[in-house]
This record gives sequence, C-alpha cells and structure tokens, in this order.
Amino acid sequence: MRILVVGGGGREHALCWALHRDTPEATIFAAPGNPGTAALGTNLPIAITAVDDLVAAATQHDIDVTIIGPEAPLAAGLADRLRGEGRAVFGPSQAAARLESSKAYAKEVLRRARVPTAASATFTELLAALDHILAHTEPLVVKASGLAAGKGVIVCVTRAEAADAARAMLAGNALGDAGHEVVIEEFVQGEELSVLALTDGERIVILPPAQDHKRLGEGDTGPNTGGMGAYCPVTLTTPALLAQVRRDVIEPVLREMAAQGAPYEGVLYAGLMLAPDGTTYVLEFNCRFGDPEAQAILPGLPKGATKHLLDIARRRWRPKRQVIAPTRAAVTTVLAARGYPEKPERGAAIHIPKDLGPDVLVFHAGTVREADGTLRTAGGRVLSVTGFGADVPAAARASAAASERIAFDGKTWRRDIAWRELQRAGAA
Ligand code: AMP
Repeated sequence: MRILVVGGGGREHALCWALHRDTPEATIFAAPGNPGTAALGTNLPIAITAVDDLVAAATQHDIDVTIIGPEAPLAAGLADRLRGEGRAVFGPSQAAARLESSKAYAKEVLRRARVPTAASATFTELLAALDHILAHTEPLVVKASGLAAGKGVIVCVTRAEAADAARAMLAGNALGDAGHEVVIEEFVQGEELSVLALTDGERIVILPPAQDHKRLGEGDTGPNTGGMGAYCPVTLTTPALLAQVRRDVIEPVLREMAAQGAPYEGVLYAGLMLAPDGTTYVLEFNCRFGDPEAQAILPGLPKGATKHLLDIARRRWRPKRQVIAPTRAAVTTVLAARGYPEKPERGAAIHIPKDLGPDVLVFHAGTVREADGTLRTAGGRVLSVTGFGADVPAAARASAAASERIAFDGKTWRRDIAWRELQRAGAA
C-alpha cells in the first residue's frame, strides 16, 4: 500500500504517525511534509495547492490512497482531480468543501437543513452591511466568508467595532477575496466543542470530541491564532450529547449536501457552541481534521483506526460502531515562534531531549532540518507536544513537562492547555 498525505503541518505528521502505526508495511509519502514526516516516509517537495504537480506525483509514485490534510487543496479541487484519475482519496470534493470555503454557503446549508446556528445575514456591499450592523444589538460577530487561515472571524463587542471590521474586509481589502463577502452573525454564548465525524456521505462514525485554544495567551487572552493547543476527550460530552449532534447536525447536513448534488465524504468537523438552554449551535464547519485537534485526537484512537480513512477513500467502508472511544486522554501544547501569529521569527536551533518518555509525542510543523542535522524553526507554529495519560489532568502534566524541556530561542507556548477540563476535574 502506498499512501500520500498532502500537507506539512503538525496535523499531517500526526496523520503519518497514525498511518505508520496502523499499517507499518505501507509506504508513506508526504507533500511537502516536514522533518517529522521524513522520519516515517518520503517527503515530496510540492506545494499543497500545486494541484497539477500533486496529481502527477500520485501517478509517478503509484499512490493507492491520498489523504488531504489542509483545506486549501480541497477548496482547489484536488480530491476531484485525483478521483478523475481513478485514485482513492480521503477528503471532500471541491463542491462539498464549500462548507468550509464559503461561510455564506455553510449558513445556507444549515438553514435548509434546519440545523440550529446563529442568526446571520450575508453581505458584499459595505453600505448594506453597515445598515444591518446599526439595526442590531451588540455584540456581533463579523466573518469573512472565504478561507482566511483562522483570521477571518472578529467577535465585536460594539457596533462601532463591527462596522470597522466590515469596512476593513469589504472596502479595505483586509483579507483579500476571502473578505469580499462577509457574514454578520449574532453572538451566541456557551461552551465550545469540536465534534469530528468520519463519513462516506451516508454512514457516520463520530470521533472523540476535542476542545481547542485559539488565543495566543494563557487564560484565552491575546490575538487569535491557528490554534495553541487542544485536548481530547472532553468530559462534558455524554453519549446522549453525541447522539444529539449526530441526529440534529451531522445527519441533516449530509442529507442536504446529497440533495444539493454535493455529497460529502471525508471528515466533517463541526465547531459547536453548547448553549446553556441545551441547544447545540453550529458556528462553523471545517472539511478536514483540525490542527492542533488532530494531534490530540488521532494518537489516542485505538490501533487500527486509520483503516476507516483508507476504507472511506476506497469506497469499501462498513463501520461496525457509531462512535470511536479514545484509549487514552491526550493534551497537545503548541510551541510557537516568537512573534507568532503576526511575524514569527525563523532560524532558531531547536533541542528536543531524547528521553521525553513513552507518554509524549512531538509532532513537527514549522521546522527544517539542515544538512548537518541541526533542526531549526521555520514557521509560526513550530512543534506540537502531545502528552498522554489515563485522564486529561495526567495528559496535561505530561504535555506541559515535555514542553518545558524542549528548547529554542523565542519559544512561545501556553501552560494552561485544557484548563476548562482541569477545572471540571477539580484539579486546577
Ligand atoms: P469560527 O471560525 O466560525 O469557528 O469562529 C472562530 C471563533 O470565533 C469560534 O471558535 C468562536 O470562539 C468565535 N465565534 C464565532 N462565531 C461566533 C458566534 N456566533 N458567537 C460567539 N462566538 C463566535
């Protein structure tokens, strides 16, 4: 079996790690990969949106299954192109990936499927957007409709802030094309939860839910980032809640996608807000694993779980269970470079101690390995440090201790990943 993983972040290293654990005889390629994936297979120096080159590489290396990690190649239609060549792919078509690449489209699907979501309106004209903002109560959430790498959502305490955000996106080109259409949404209160479902368009298996940490600073302060950490499982998710998410969110959305002629397959990531009144609101969809959620979810799954991905891709999936339970708790701490997310510094030498122990996995993201073997920082999020334990507090201790010991100049990280769960566990 020859597997190609598209992407080069911590998520893709975690995917390669899990694939290698489950199928050690498989030959793994990563494009472009990173020094972490290089230890598990062969890196191909191809950009994630170079669709033609990726399709050619799949032919050249006789790839059996391609797993697409990030959203950009999905939005660019990589899955369609590979399927057009008769190849098995894990990941949705370009049309189905619009659930993530157009928030306006996602809102439309949610409305048609009658799935609870924050009330919203979509605008391409600034004046209409400003009128709408003036007529609504604070706070408001202004979202760029297109892909904006985690920078597209602005929670605005006041109408003036919302007006500024709409102006910057619609008139000021703040996010390029992604911001030329905006969704303005009411603010909903509650606890956030990420529920990821594997699906072939009909069958559904729910993965253990995770919670991520978007803000740069401890206590959820500072600017939004791609994600500074995640943990899994989240004990506030009862089997009843997961059954509700399946029935009230995932199933109706899959039915609506099929009805629209864009059946969804791959992993559907629902960003949820659990409101105090028991309603589960969908805040967003992602059409792929989250990063860093993948680094907390995948290594805790039972051995063999990646077979689901391969079977979905090969259209021979017959899952026996509706949910997958984790075998161990995991907490992932992201180690970022100084200056992240605005202007991350590069080039610092990284030291990873060899004796971090069996309860820790270190996934690479923004790293490069030089010819002499030195590992250096080469991006905003440098490493993901996943600690394991019987419960989240134990996993958090393992992750924090290892994060402390890994050294590079400018190391920027949060020591409070999983704080909500620790509070729930009475261990904070
Ligand atoms: P999204 O990319 O849509 O998940 O938004 C990013 C973050 O913004 C979410 O994780 C929430 O913390 C926050 N957010 C988005 N939409 C809303 C909303 N309608 N009400 C409250 N917070 C929101």
